[in-house]
Amino acid sequence: MSTPPRYDSVEFRSGIGFDSHPLTQGRKLVLGGVEIPHDRGLSGHSDGDVLVHAVMDALLGAANLGDKGLHFPSSDPQYKDISSLILLERVGALLAEAGWRLSNVDATILAQNPRLSPFNVAMRENVAKSLSVAPDRISVKVTTTDYLGFVGREEGIAVCAVASLVSGVSGTSSTRP
Ligand SMILES: [Zn+2]
Repeated sequence: MSTPPRYDSVEFRSGIGFDSHPLTQGRKLVLGGVEIPHDRGLSGHSDGDVLVHAVMDALLGAANLGDKGLHFPSSDPQYKDISSLILLERVGALLAEAGWRLSNVDATILAQNPRLSPFNVAMRENVAKSLSVAPDRISVKVTTTDYLGFVGREEGIAVCAVASLVSGVSGTSSTRP
């Protein structure tokens, strides 16, 4: 008697992340680890990389591992001005430990200014590198809000992101969480 295929041996999960930071004078604008020329930057305890923060929360949410504040509390001085890509790398390690691999990330940056599309490829490559995946698994889109709200008034930048995870790899279903 043959054994039926185990369709339940692979599991898919998705998670959502959202973040926004204020634009302030005297800060560098860093998005996806790319320093973008602008007269203001995003404030925050770390480098204020709102794109990476939203991606981290989407990944942690998909794996049901809490949120980035749980793993990297802003009250902890070791995270002051740290590159958020380093934290993203740690999130990637947490996912791997829990038996997940990344299927894809899709993120939308909401910013009225500056124009971000010229930096799209570099942002995708940085995020992919930190997560040890090919850049084609990382999508970064940019949009304005047509001058509506805090984004439209250029008071801040926001990002929403979704991430999809797949359990383990073929033949290692025992590592499935
Ligand atoms: Zn943030």
